[in-house]
Amino acid sequence: MAILVTGGLGYIGSHTVVELINNGFEVIIVDDLSNSEKFILYNIEEITGKRPIFYPFDLRRKELLTQVFDAHQIEGCINFAASKAVGESQLKPVDYYENNLFSLINILQEFKERGISNFIFSSSCTVYGQAETMPIDENTPLKMPESVYGKTKQMGEEILIDFAKAYHRKISLLRYFNPIGAHSSALIGELPIGVPNNLVPYVMQTAAGIREKLSIWGDDYPTEDGTAVRDYIYVVDLAKAHVKALQKLINDNSDEALIDIFNLGTGNGSSVLEVVKAFEIANKVEVPYQICERREGDITVAYANVDKAEKELNWKSETSLEEALRTVWQWQKYLESKNS
Ligand code: UDP
Repeated sequence: MAILVTGGLGYIGSHTVVELINNGFEVIIVDDLSNSEKFILYNIEEITGKRPIFYPFDLRRKELLTQVFDAHQIEGCINFAASKAVGESQLKPVDYYENNLFSLINILQEFKERGISNFIFSSSCTVYGQAETMPIDENTPLKMPESVYGKTKQMGEEILIDFAKAYHRKISLLRYFNPIGAHSSALIGELPIGVPNNLVPYVMQTAAGIREKLSIWGDDYPTEDGTAVRDYIYVVDLAKAHVKALQKLINDNSDEALIDIFNLGTGNGSSVLEVVKAFEIANKVEVPYQICERREGDITVAYANVDKAEKELNWKSETSLEEALRTVWQWQKYLESKNS
């Protein structure tokens, strides 16, 4: 069964491709390499023993996408391809809406015309904003996100729900909390392109001496140590959830629409300081930091209730924060050896 994975050379995409191949799926990757690199394809092959079919183009190029659907018997899609820098999205809203939504709609046109079902969408806990109560379950009311990036995720969800209802298709909206870590082989991970915005890549580069100091954005939040709390989920655990979500859609034999929504996290919150300490302990390195003002738009606390994924997907996160952070450091060592 061939599964189209858009953005399959990206961070979460590449880990998911590995898990799909490990589970016997044939994978077709479309990725424009705007935030990824070709060597990831070869490293996927090194890990799995199989090189996925790869098409390097931008999904807004509908005519090329049509050719891919003509050439393969595609039975489902996991859509990772999207621009994802929150700050940049505020500066380039039109580009973000165009890239993230046009590419989604182009795939859905093919699905609609060819009668294909089984669509998995990379969504984000950003759709909840600052929730009133913790942990966040799937019934927590949504809030219109502040960032354009977040809005493209929420709009993508709406488009897919309408698609599923109108054409009786099966979709799964996966709301990720904070993905971290790299594959245990250290052959794939999050590529450090530019100055990292996210916490763990920044911690990694600070420990490696690439950055002088980590800035901790605020220690006056109403949390135990004053720093903000998130739910950091190991990327390989997250990738495995995609395979389970896909299998659930495939195994559903009804002719009705199926709209699955799952929060994917560990169920535990960790503060910024806890992450820094865990990184230091796991890797026996020092992470110099300074406390700074809060970052605009940041929420105080977010962690998931993962009961639904556990019950319906038979999935839960298996990897501890420290273990995940060890893989981050191995990945950094790999990048250093590659560049030397
Ligand atoms: N953070 C920080 N310094 C950084 C990057 C992030 O203190 O250089 C904090 C940030 O304020 C937030 C947490 O780490 O509380 C997670 O931030 P990230 O950008 O990784 O994810 P998100 O804000 O999307 O949850």
